[in-house]
Amino acid sequence: MGSGLLLGCIADDFTGATDLANNLVRNGMRAVQTIGVPAGPLEVNTDAVVVALKTRTTPAAEAVQQSLEALRWLQAQGARQIYFKYCSTFDSTTHGNIGPVTEALMDALGTDFTVATPAFPDNQRTVFKGYLFVGDVLLSESGMRDHPLTPMTDANLVRVLQAQCKRRVGLIDYRTVGAGEAAIRQRIQALRAEGVAIAVVDALSNDDLLRLGPALKDLKLVTAGSGVAIGLPANFGLRASEGASRLPSGLGARAVVAGSCSQATNRQVRTFIEAGGAAMALDPLRIAAGQDVVAQTLAWAKPLLAKGPVLVYSTAEPGAVKSVQGRLGVEQAGAMVERAIAAIARGLVDLGVRQLVVAGGETSGACVQALGVRQLQIGPQIDPGVPWCWGRDGAGHHLHMALKSGNFGGDDFFGKAFALLQ
Ligand code: ADP
Repeated sequence: MGSGLLLGCIADDFTGATDLANNLVRNGMRAVQTIGVPAGPLEVNTDAVVVALKTRTTPAAEAVQQSLEALRWLQAQGARQIYFKYCSTFDSTTHGNIGPVTEALMDALGTDFTVATPAFPDNQRTVFKGYLFVGDVLLSESGMRDHPLTPMTDANLVRVLQAQCKRRVGLIDYRTVGAGEAAIRQRIQALRAEGVAIAVVDALSNDDLLRLGPALKDLKLVTAGSGVAIGLPANFGLRASEGASRLPSGLGARAVVAGSCSQATNRQVRTFIEAGGAAMALDPLRIAAGQDVVAQTLAWAKPLLAKGPVLVYSTAEPGAVKSVQGRLGVEQAGAMVERAIAAIARGLVDLGVRQLVVAGGETSGACVQALGVRQLQIGPQIDPGVPWCWGRDGAGHHLHMALKSGNFGGDDFFGKAFALLQ
């Protein structure tokens, strides 16, 4: 069914893939997100596919190999253009993986030119003279300076990317972008003539991204954060429409599982409980003590599911989380809670839940895996960056899922999510 595929995307992490798919859908492109490279063909007809990998911080050779595997699958589905998606803070180490993956994709596609820009003005990520700003400060002065895995200490993206690449890296600056498509195309020609193969592109606003879009029409490969996606659907004759985000209507019981301990999720859990929602807290120490928390939670939920949404949460305030981590170890506590929540999600779906909200990035990954969901069609946005999705679990049940990374969403996110599906 892949013959209609327009845009094939490769994302270096799971929530980043959803973010990109969401931008495409909001601009008129039907999109499906796959978890890893699918073994078979697409399950539904769509305009764009985003293959979600987990290659942001893996060794470069592994990231390259997985990205090339994704490329081959997308090409087999007939993709006309390839989009390599990375983080809007350009998360990478001195050795990669943005540069090595970009160059490997260029080699495989036989192309001598591409662009690179993490700009996403809607999310406070702008690029000016090649320097990336996060909100009002340079990337190197933002919290990313202290990131545990990918500390970003240089905001000059031309320099950062050049250090990761064999090919020459150049710049298309804000004046050129501001002058529009013809000027951008001219600049691309000039850079090519100078032997530049990858151009960092300035963008200060959505208008810049919309001016950039048409100039990228003939490129076999685009590399970017999710922002550039807003300018691409028009190249395929698509415009924003309700139709692109249409999903089957929501049926079955409703549940939220929350493993995020972010401030936003703490507020969302509180709001749900204060509104009278049925909620069950998971105590990591009881799980560690060997109590069958999964079975107990499912027995609690079973009679309630007919009455309205239930919430199961390990969400806790920083002090409580620290204390648990001190007793069990950070990673052990995390992995143990993720396993319990994923098993509860599996059990809830077996009890008839067909509308499931998951709060937490890692928690979402664990739930999707436990449910055996491989492909998700992207639907309407609940809050910025978080759409409803629709897919099939390993047992063949169709269900709606909303996968929320920790800090996303307003206080009433859970209520708002279910209201949107009614
Ligand atoms: P976020 O998107 O907010 O980062 P994640 O799901 O990615 O959320 O990460 C939260 C991590 O914290 C997970 O590994 C989860 O299992 C762990 N966790 C959840 N609740 C607790 C808790 N009460 N104590 C300790 N760790 C917890």
